[in-house]
Amino acid sequence: MFCMKYSPKNDTFNIPEKVVDVAKTLENKGFEAYLIGGCVRDLLLGRKPKDWDITTDAVPEEIIKHFPDTFYENDFGTVGVVNKTEDESVRVVEVTPYRLEAKYSNSRHPDSVTFSKNLEDDLKRRDFTINAIALKIIVKDKNGYKGQIVDLYKGQEDIKGHIVRTVGNPEERFAEDALRLLRAARIAVELGFTINIDTSKAIAKLAENLGKIAGERIRDEFSRILMSDRPMVGLELMRDLNLLPEIVPSLQKAIGVTQNKAHSYDVWEHSLRTVQHAAKKGWPLEIRLAALFHDIGKPIARRFSPEKNDWTFHGHDVIGVKIAEKSMGDLKYPNKTIDKVAKLVRWHMFFSDTEQITHSAVRRLVANVGQENVWDLMNLRICDRIGTGRPKEDPYRLRKYRAMVEEVMRDPVTVAMLKIDGNTIMKTASLEPGPKIGFILNALLEEVLDNPKLNTSEYLEKRATQMARMKDRELAELGKKAKDRRNLEEETAVKKIRSKYWVK
Ligand code: ATP
Ligand code: MG
Repeated sequence: MFCMKYSPKNDTFNIPEKVVDVAKTLENKGFEAYLIGGCVRDLLLGRKPKDWDITTDAVPEEIIKHFPDTFYENDFGTVGVVNKTEDESVRVVEVTPYRLEAKYSNSRHPDSVTFSKNLEDDLKRRDFTINAIALKIIVKDKNGYKGQIVDLYKGQEDIKGHIVRTVGNPEERFAEDALRLLRAARIAVELGFTINIDTSKAIAKLAENLGKIAGERIRDEFSRILMSDRPMVGLELMRDLNLLPEIVPSLQKAIGVTQNKAHSYDVWEHSLRTVQHAAKKGWPLEIRLAALFHDIGKPIARRFSPEKNDWTFHGHDVIGVKIAEKSMGDLKYPNKTIDKVAKLVRWHMFFSDTEQITHSAVRRLVANVGQENVWDLMNLRICDRIGTGRPKEDPYRLRKYRAMVEEVMRDPVTVAMLKIDGNTIMKTASLEPGPKIGFILNALLEEVLDNPKLNTSEYLEKRATQMARMKDRELAELGKKAKDRRNLEEETAVKKIRSKYWVK
């Protein structure tokens, strides 16, 4: 199984200069400053930290004083030190005073926060042992920075053993802040670690407390599980830890819902396999959410058909939209995300038998799902196929379908793109309505296709007047020739698209 490795070169660390500067500035003013949390954990794993946290015995006012650009907008003492740099991970270095936390009476946040002068107090309030290791930067050598590690809870041992374990008594720690229940699963999935048995038991026991946590906070952790390399493992872990019904109750209902004979997996496993393929392809959150929710209407739509002697799921796409919207709404996903995922869920059943469908059917689908979503819908279909256990993600039929989508979406070459229209031609060249107008438009288009710079109303009006003076037969011939040439160009363009998808 995949796992992050404990880095053997763990005495020298690659720390960005901007981060070192923040720590050294504090130390030069007589304060203590330690790297702390996820960044130290990631350094020990040889992984690039996403962001950098520093903990210190300075209080916010003292921190703010020593840096030119900071912000401080929370109740927890965290000061953001702002750096001007390309490297996103150090643009804001978070500096937080050592904290002592009073009682937690609501499973969400401490009743009050007191700053402390002791690093030990701060390590004690951290969630997991692997996140409670502090690192003091000592000296630079040619490979990076050497440091002194403070590890009061055997975090390094747990990193070596790939274990997520709470600092102190798990039930007490989870009772303080229920978000930690989900953080444990997220961190385990991202790192490929397992959760210690007592920590797991406490999570399963206290899972219901997640109900007290704001949707946004849950969403951020949940999205990270989906965006990890192994969302399938993450979702199974959430189920095993009783977290699933607290986060996506609708998905819990898909467990054990068997499908028709064409499917090897129940709705739950099929959904997970579909998300997993989206992760394998590195596809974005919206596709992963759509993969997770595309069949969420099935448990409700399931009927037994005596004629078919099998289960049917008519309307599960329509029902699924409502359920998916509710689930994502509860998790406070932005409306833009919800709308997009809802469209993908709604249209995921598009009929792709290219022997039977026409371009106008494809055009209708593009109009329904939206041009901006149609390729994501194609990708969702690929995930859906693999999630069903089909061996081929992109068979002839689907490639042919995608070629048809591209054909209906490309801008057709028509006289409408000219900077002149029939009415103007009639006016400027004093012509009556009749076939001549069409001939002139086609001939003008021909010229513009050869030289797009000619597409100005000035030039086209002049040319139209000249053409209007030509003999009828001559003009008809010119117009027809132009049209034939364009038809040929259209055909060539379509052929090119089809060969790109290896279809006829
Ligand atoms: P990553 O940066 O990869 O998201 P992280 O562990 O750094 O992981 P952050 O949310 O950045 O996660 O938190 C920084 C540190 O703050 C954690 O490592 C942990 O020590 C502490 N922490 C964060 N959330 C909690 C919490 N709910 N309870 C206790 N400690 C927490
Ligand atoms: Mg972090």
